[in-house]
Amino acid sequence: MKNRKKLVITLIGVIVLGIGLFVYQTFIKKQLHFKENMTVEINGKFNPNSYISEVEHGSVKDVACQSKNLNIKKLGKYEVTYTYKNREYTTTIQVVDTQKPVFKGLDDLTVSLNTTPDLKAGVEVSDNSLEEIKYKIDDKNLDTSKEGTYEVTYVAKDSSGNKTIAKRKIEVIKKIGSDKQSNEKVVYLTFDDGPSENTKKIMDILAKYDAKATFFVTGRNQDYNYLIKDAYNAGHTIALHTYSHEYSTVYASVDAYFDDLNKVGQMVKKEIGFVPHYIRFPGGSSNTVSRRYCQGIMSTLTKEVVEKGYQYYDWNGDSTDASGNHVAVDKLIRNGTSCHDNNVMILCHDTQAKDTTVQALPAIIEHYKNLGYTFKGIDDATYAPHQSVNN
Ligand SMILES: [Zn+2]
Repeated sequence: MKNRKKLVITLIGVIVLGIGLFVYQTFIKKQLHFKENMTVEINGKFNPNSYISEVEHGSVKDVACQSKNLNIKKLGKYEVTYTYKNREYTTTIQVVDTQKPVFKGLDDLTVSLNTTPDLKAGVEVSDNSLEEIKYKIDDKNLDTSKEGTYEVTYVAKDSSGNKTIAKRKIEVIKKIGSDKQSNEKVVYLTFDDGPSENTKKIMDILAKYDAKATFFVTGRNQDYNYLIKDAYNAGHTIALHTYSHEYSTVYASVDAYFDDLNKVGQMVKKEIGFVPHYIRFPGGSSNTVSRRYCQGIMSTLTKEVVEKGYQYYDWNGDSTDASGNHVAVDKLIRNGTSCHDNNVMILCHDTQAKDTTVQALPAIIEHYKNLGYTFKGIDDATYAPHQSVNN
């Protein structure tokens, strides 16, 4: 009798313990565990599973998350509810801002002596908070009255106090080009719009007379880009004309102009290892075509290119080979030999269609040679003829 009573009590005890264990496991003991750091970056992507460290007797796939309270666009603490095996787990997710603002456009800048560079041009700063970030420029080290390499500092801070300090290299160089002609008798033969098959023919003629010239190249005929390198290696000067040579593109805006110029600059850099600082505007600085696309653009560009460390070259001699294709050779010779300044910069073209330019070239060279001129490529000291700006 006594033994039977004991057995019943033991049995009840086991059952109660079992029920207790079941209740504890099911309703009391947590089966879903979270990581310690429950934060998400503002305007970032909220990934509910990334906060779960352990799911007992299951996987994250069995967990649902209700996060409609969470406003990812606003800093703060938000309640988020996870559901696992019919049990709810409410936890707090904090929207934080720990990311620093990011600068764009702090490329090295080349400027001419005694100019005031626009250090804000092309510079952008963004932040994950999406707020508008103000930034400061510390340029106390910059002295544009002396040639040299300088460093300026850009500082941006977002409203959460995240701070970015970025350095930018500024190179101050002496102004390229001279306003005055030198006393020396020099012809600067210049060829625009190439390279093409004719570039090679022109180089052969130049070699015959030991004459150097300047090629204002474009990006229109890149199968012949190897001639840019060949011309450079032969001692000629490589200069920038335009990448597309489409007036509607190049002169659409000041930014469009510099986009095009940078493109042709990078293209040339691939061939010769650097970006030349000598440029010629499509149509020259006096062109009026640009008026159609952007009023006043030439007045701005002629100043800005010099401020950015470039120099532009128009011409005081003209072969007039731009007046059409296959212009008569004798006309090209007559026009191409009409200027007798000390420094003559002659406009010619080396595109495929300008075969008569190739034919006229020896006579033009001989004309000036007989008058005691030498033939040089443009360098930093070269006279830079500037026509009057009409737009
Ligand atoms: Zn051109």
